[in-house]
Amino acid sequence: MRVVMKFGGTSVGSADAIRQVARIVAESRREHEVVIVVSAMNAPDLRTTDTLIAAARAAAEGDGEATALAAPRLLDLHMQVAAELVSAEEREALAPELRGMLDYMSDLSRSIAVLGELTPRALDLFSGLGERLNARLIAAVLRSAGVAAQAVDATGLIVTDERYGAASPLMAETRERSRERLLPLLAEGVVPVVTGFIGATRTGVPTTLGRGGSDYSCAILGAVLDADEVWFWKEVDGVLTTNPKVVPEARTLPRLTYSEMAELAYYGANVLHPKTVLPLVQRRIPIRIRNTFNPDHPGTLISAEESAGAAKAVTAIKDVSLITVGGPGMLGVAGVAARIFGAVARAGANILLISQASSEQSVCLAVPRAEAPAAVAELRHELAGEFSAHNVEHIDVQDPVVIVALVGSGMRGTPGIAGRLFGAMGAAGINVIAIAQGSTENNISLVVAAEEGDRAVRVIHQSFGL
Ligand code: ASP
Ligand code: MG
Repeated sequence: MRVVMKFGGTSVGSADAIRQVARIVAESRREHEVVIVVSAMNAPDLRTTDTLIAAARAAAEGDGEATALAAPRLLDLHMQVAAELVSAEEREALAPELRGMLDYMSDLSRSIAVLGELTPRALDLFSGLGERLNARLIAAVLRSAGVAAQAVDATGLIVTDERYGAASPLMAETRERSRERLLPLLAEGVVPVVTGFIGATRTGVPTTLGRGGSDYSCAILGAVLDADEVWFWKEVDGVLTTNPKVVPEARTLPRLTYSEMAELAYYGANVLHPKTVLPLVQRRIPIRIRNTFNPDHPGTLISAEESAGAAKAVTAIKDVSLITVGGPGMLGVAGVAARIFGAVARAGANILLISQASSEQSVCLAVPRAEAPAAVAELRHELAGEFSAHNVEHIDVQDPVVIVALVGSGMRGTPGIAGRLFGAMGAAGINVIAIAQGSTENNISLVVAAEEGDRAVRVIHQSFGL
């Protein structure tokens, strides 16, 4: 099997973590063809990417020495790991290489301070350095452990547009370059250690894919290399049935469909972002989420295949405002909904949930609480005419409220789920303020008062035996 696997910043955040990574790679390689994608080191007291970005910003403010000051700490962070896990011979080559890369940034920093300007293009050089340092370190660790490995900068693989700081891949070119560069390594039994987060334009100018972009890098490479599976190594056993801080009995889900994963991500569960893994979903490549620190656990397998169980997980979004626009004159008038949504969009508020009963006397929508005041002001402005004609009589805001969502694609066409859900709420004495279910039937969402949120999650988790 060909497996592309990614290790996030915490999974490579210390010598112990990296030792674990080396073990996982050595083991996986015995059975599979392996490509690994790495984030920058995220040590508890030194977050590489954040540090580099802060130094670049300081330079723009005139502090040309900030990078030179941070450089020895960053070099130390990497070389301390090397001291434990890299052979003396390899270390001799590694230290000057990493130092040279950091020196280059220090020089660049001084120029930026003189110019007094940091372009997004220059910032991408800084922010992507952590991945470049780490790929070299981890390749050296692997070789020292007897695994043939080579660091590869994704600037030579992932071709992007020119949106510095948030670039998008050009898939056809990326496919061609990645295969040309990586397939021969795989054929020789070498494990490519590819930098996450970065790419380069057609003309070779380095870019980044946006903060947290290493997941995206891994998905892109998994897709263009036609991987059989793509594994994301994280610090949890997989996707859980709910937040374990609210429900200690929460358990790891063995399987999920792509759409269930997307619903969960949308509703605040800490899983892969749907946009990030789109290249994999489009090609129907199975995804596994696994725990770097508990590699014997099989994790969660996410694929197109439906699995047993109608309702799979319950999740909650907190700090939400519910805005209700109501009045007798909304009945049968076309275009009111469009104007309501238009106004909320102009206010820059993100609509989380919509519900309108067919009596059409009111429309209610949920938005993040911080965005509610602007949305309400814009609604009052938009509907001023309707107010004076008494067609719209009130715009009410209720907050804070919580949206609780029950997710599972097996709920489609299964009668009785909503009955059980609302029965459980009723039995527990929890008042449901609003309800929404889309016709995909992947999720049923309810709005409850903030202080009932956690209890609603517990009640649902228990009554569905999750
Ligand atoms: N190092 C990058 C960041 O911190 C990318 C990543 O870790 O995914 O945003
Ligand atoms: Mg990260």
